[in-house]
Amino acid sequence: MAGFQKLDTPTAQGPKGLAKVVLALFTKQATVTEVKALDERFTVITLQSPAFQGVRWVAGQKMQIMLGASFVARTYTPMEWNPETGCTRLFAYAHGDSPAGEWLASLSAGDRVHVFGPRNSLDLTGIASPIVVLGDETSIGLAYAIQQQNPTLAVLCMLEVNAREHTQVALTRLPVGTAELFERQPDDQHLQALEQNLPALVASGATFVLTGKASTIQRVRRVLKSLGTPAARMPTKAYWAPGKTGLD
Ligand SMILES: Cc1cc2nc3c(=O)[nH]c(=O)nc-3n(C[C@H](O)[C@H](O)[C@H](O)COP(=O)(O)OP(=O)(O)OC[C@H]3O[C@@H](n4cnc5c(N)ncnc54)[C@H](O)[C@@H]3O)c2cc1C
Repeated sequence: MAGFQKLDTPTAQGPKGLAKVVLALFTKQATVTEVKALDERFTVITLQSPAFQGVRWVAGQKMQIMLGASFVARTYTPMEWNPETGCTRLFAYAHGDSPAGEWLASLSAGDRVHVFGPRNSLDLTGIASPIVVLGDETSIGLAYAIQQQNPTLAVLCMLEVNAREHTQVALTRLPVGTAELFERQPDDQHLQALEQNLPALVASGATFVLTGKASTIQRVRRVLKSLGTPAARMPTKAYWAPGKTGLD
C-alpha cells in the first residue's frame, strides 16, 4: 500500500520495526574502527564493541556479519581478540562481484555493523606442532589466529590462490609465517604440486587444518587418508563451494 512500509523490511537507512528488534536480540552491534586494504582484494577490518569485552575467544571460531542493512550475512574468522578493549580484526578476501565484495568496497571507518558470534566452528583445541594450514585466500585470517593464540606453534601455510603476486603482497603486510602459494590452474592441476609435499609432512607428524574450497578439501583429505593420517589430525571446515552462497 502506497505510503506504508512493511514493519520488518530492512531499508537502506537501516533496519526498522521488527527487524530492528530481531537484530537487537540476536546480534551484537560493533563499530568499524579501521578498514585497511593490504592489496586490492585483501582487507583487514577492525571492529570494536562493548559487547566484545570479556568475551573468551579461541582461534578457529567464526563470526557472521550482516552486510549493510540487508538480512544477508557472510562468515569470517576473527584473527585476534582483545577482551579488554573489545576489539577484533578480520581478514577478508574479495573474490569478485558478490554481496561481500560490494560490502567490502563500501565499508569505511565509523560504519556500524551487526554480528552473530563469535561462535565455535573449527575445533583446534590441543593441536600440536607442526601444523599445516591448508586452504586458500580465505584461510589466511585463520592461520594468523592460530599463531596469535599460540606463538610457539610451528605453522606452515599451503594455499591455493587465484593470483600469487597479489596474495604475496598481502602476506608481506600481514605475515603468517612460512607460506607456500599454489596458483590455481585449469582442472586443478596446481594441486598435484601441493600434494607432492604431503607424504613428507604426514611422516613428520603434522596436523592438517583444512579450510577453503570444499572440493579441494575433499580431494586433499582423500590423499591424506591414503597416507595414513588419522581424522584427529585433519580438522576440517569448508569455507566456500562453487555455486553455493554464504556458507556458515
Ligand atoms: C566458518 C567460515 C569462516 C570463514 N572465514 C573467512 C575469512 O576469515 N576470510 C574470508 O575472506 N572468507 C572467509 N570465509 C569465506 C566467506 O564467508 C565466503 O567466501 C563467502 O561466500 C563470501 O561471500 P560472497 O558474498 O563474496 O560470495 P557468495 O555470495 O557467498 O557466493 C557467490 C559465488 O562466489 C563463490 N565464492 C565464494 N567465496 C569464494 C572465494 N573465496 N573464491 C572464489 N569464489 C568464491 C561461491 O561459490 C558462489 O558461487 C569463511 C567461511 C566460513 C564458512
